[in-house]
Amino acid sequence: MEKKITPALKQYLELKEKYKDAILMFRMGDFYEMFFEDAEVVARELEIALTSRPFGKGMEKVPMCGVPCHSAQPYIARLVKKGYRVAICEQLEPAKPGKVVERDVVRVITPGTFFEDETEDRTIMAIFPSRKSFGTAWSTLSTGELYFSKFGEEELRSIIAKTRPKEVVVPDGFSEYSMIKEVSPESIIQERSKESFSQRVHLAEAEKAEIHAVSGLISFIEETQKAFLPKLSKFKKYTGKDFLFLDHQTLRNLEILEPINKNLNGACLLNVLDRTKTGMGKRTLKKWLLNPLKNKKKIEERLDAVQELINDRELSQSLDKILSKIYDIERLTTKITSGLANPKDLHALKTSIKPLHHLKELLLKASSNLLKELGNSLDTLSDIGEKLERTIEDNPPATFKEGGVIKRGVCEELDQLKDIKENAEKYLKELEERERKRTGIQSLKVGYNSVFGYYIEVSKPNLKFVPEDYIRKQTLVNAERFITKELKEFEEKLLTAQERIEALELEIFRKIRNEISENSQRLFQTSEKIGIIDALNSLSKVAKERDYVRPAITEDFSIFIKEGKHPVLEKILQEDFIPNDTYIDENHFIILLTGPNMGGKSVFLRQTALIVLMAHIGSFVPAKEAKISIVDKIFSRVGSADDISRGLSTFMMEMVETSNILRNATSKSLIILDEIGRGTSTKDGLSIARAVIEYIATKIKAKTLFATHYHELTELEGTLKGLKNYHVSVEEVDGKVVFTHKVLPGASEKSYGIHVAELAGLPEEVIERAKEILSEIEKTKVVSGLPLFEKEEEEEDISEVVKILESVEISETTPLEALMLLARLKKALKKVRS
Ligand code: ATP
Repeated sequence: MEKKITPALKQYLELKEKYKDAILMFRMGDFYEMFFEDAEVVARELEIALTSRPFGKGMEKVPMCGVPCHSAQPYIARLVKKGYRVAICEQLEPAKPGKVVERDVVRVITPGTFFEDETEDRTIMAIFPSRKSFGTAWSTLSTGELYFSKFGEEELRSIIAKTRPKEVVVPDGFSEYSMIKEVSPESIIQERSKESFSQRVHLAEAEKAEIHAVSGLISFIEETQKAFLPKLSKFKKYTGKDFLFLDHQTLRNLEILEPINKNLNGACLLNVLDRTKTGMGKRTLKKWLLNPLKNKKKIEERLDAVQELINDRELSQSLDKILSKIYDIERLTTKITSGLANPKDLHALKTSIKPLHHLKELLLKASSNLLKELGNSLDTLSDIGEKLERTIEDNPPATFKEGGVIKRGVCEELDQLKDIKENAEKYLKELEERERKRTGIQSLKVGYNSVFGYYIEVSKPNLKFVPEDYIRKQTLVNAERFITKELKEFEEKLLTAQERIEALELEIFRKIRNEISENSQRLFQTSEKIGIIDALNSLSKVAKERDYVRPAITEDFSIFIKEGKHPVLEKILQEDFIPNDTYIDENHFIILLTGPNMGGKSVFLRQTALIVLMAHIGSFVPAKEAKISIVDKIFSRVGSADDISRGLSTFMMEMVETSNILRNATSKSLIILDEIGRGTSTKDGLSIARAVIEYIATKIKAKTLFATHYHELTELEGTLKGLKNYHVSVEEVDGKVVFTHKVLPGASEKSYGIHVAELAGLPEEVIERAKEILSEIEKTKVVSGLPLFEKEEEEEDISEVVKILESVEISETTPLEALMLLARLKKALKKVRS
């Protein structure tokens, strides 16, 4: 068996053993080839031809498929996006006959480290558990950022939901898989030995668990990226306390980054607010939405800037024009530091640096502090720009094969070689002319062919005039082709020149790339500023276009929103959207909202939360007037009836989450509870809903919007301090329900569930029967009123009394029996009273 393994197969198997969990792309000349099971997987996943061929002479055929190296990128991308890890194995030396080329894996591209993917920013996370908390580090390699922090379980859930890591690196024996999967099911969990988490960085402000997490993350990145390691120059401690806390459910329920129903493409807050021009701006806006500010001054700084951009349309438009000329400098920088940047990337950087000077000038003229400060601190990278301008050609090719990357004047030798190349054509024409004169053959031609190189072609009838020094090279039907010593020398010079140009250009290019890489910190800083400018301008454009208003930011507890609108729904429905007011102060901080199904309760709840959130990122808001007090956390819980898509034990989840809210909310929080308690029996649900409201009203005292179909709860108004009833009104026209979507003070009378069922097209028979049952229920009050529990017990007890009475024939009762009966009745009545 051992004998049959050829050296090439041995090399393959050894590498495959090392990279068992990856698809090994094995470089064979101009192809990446995959063998055995890898070949089958790749052929199936990428729908490419699966063939077979022997691995070395005289060997059995093995399954195989391949992709050309020059176009491998899209194939790799598709595999990684499907969750595979791809190990790229290169030839480390030129092929030599009779010897196996040295090969090794130069990089493993994994879902979390595929930083050159232009379609999304991929995050990789490492978690290191320590007692009850988790040292956590995460990085988006494409932007060179690395954050670390120590979290409790709930905060960790929130950060996983915010970053949606493609991969999570954990130490062996990690037991919290389900927590990661629950929040981010698509995350791939990578277990690594505890040793790979041992300290390898020094971070002054970091705790032990954080250092372990950062170390684990870096080990993983190094282990996979090898020579293509991007520079992670932005290590930052994430301090959640500076930001408004949003838990993972709230992020989802408020549809901040994506709609719950994925089919509603783009129906989310980010999409409404995103009118950015650059990748940096888009990322900044996303970051702001996930980390809204709690500091009044900072929020107002952003609002001032947005205000200025709304008022000064010329400034806003000029910024827009400049921003549209700027490529994603942040991502380009990562490509540069990792050594993946090609000439086109440096050209893109050159183009992006050009307008920075103008950008700075504009900002310096601005009047708001933030814009001015951005102008002051903006590094226009002019030295890098000049260097690129001097060295990199306009519109260079992506590779070095064709030359044309480095400008003239950078390197004397290169210029001379370029002269040779450029003069070649002229020289060949001259040579042709000279030879025609020398030989007297007018039809003599100088030509080139890729197999034989340069030649002089003479037609058959003229062969007799061919001079002695012509060397025959090729015979055609009507002509012969020759070479001369001079032509041969020229050819060699030209080919060497071409090769040398390629090598020199590559060398100079790498030098420039390294020089720029050393300035990565500056490039990242400029990217960050561009991101902020872009995000602010985006907010101003949306505000102007959608007629938003500047919210007044306060710290006095109250929230006042006049004619507020749901930012996403309003964009879809336009003027058909009915605005509503929200008023919360210290005396009325719980809005108990009842109303018909489909009335607009959920929309009202969410719009209030979204407006509050928007104000905290420094955005104008969809309302006529808004006064928003700073909140510390927003919680949004949607009852199980609306939450079936998660596929979890819904009522249990609902209770876990409600419990989480009750434990973590403070008097500064905003709580949105939509139909809590719906996932169980009416009695249990109602009891839980009431107990939750009472707890919030008396213990937490958080601003709360509570939508419910339990009309019984409306009786709490007046008895529970802080609670105020509101309802979504409907009108009944000719027995038909018309939804007005208007939120008004007071309780609603009914749920109109049957009307909605009718609208939904339930069979008439079912609707009629439901109406009958409803009217019976309403008569018997089996399910009604808060005093329901007492009433039911009372009815049961009385029925016991009635039963006793009915069981006796008074006329035939003996005195003893009468006494006994009296005793039984007394006992039953005592029970009723108690
Ligand atoms: P249910 O009790 O059945 O959950 P609901 O009262 O929560 O219903 P929503 O889901 O908020 O009702 O709204 C139902 C639909 O009504 C929305 O999808 C939207 O189309 C429309 N709607 C709600 N509010 C408004 C509004 N303010 N203006 C216009 N249309 C609205």
